[in-house]
Amino acid sequence: MKAPMPQGQQQMNIDISQTKDLFCVACKNPYFKKSLRLKHMSAILSPSGEAMLIPVEVLICEKCEKEFNPDESFKQLSEETGESDTEISGSIVDIK
Ligand SMILES: [Zn+2]
Repeated sequence: MKAPMPQGQQQMNIDISQTKDLFCVACKNPYFKKSLRLKHMSAILSPSGEAMLIPVEVLICEKCEKEFNPDESFKQLSEETGESDTEISGSIVDIK
């Protein structure tokens, strides 16, 4: 017996063991906290014609408080899992 799928909702079977952790690109910490950035939109650019404050949710590294950037982390992940992963893994690049 199979329960009918709820309308408009797609069931996805996600195997969490098949996923990869993304780390902070600066300190390799895997934990992030939610934070809000406030964006100011000037009256000229605003659709309402009035200046607006727009809260934007971002993820901040728990450790070094660098803002999580998905592009950087994906790039790092692909570099680490790429063909030269044996060379890169285990070595920590010291950025000054
Ligand atoms: Zn960090």
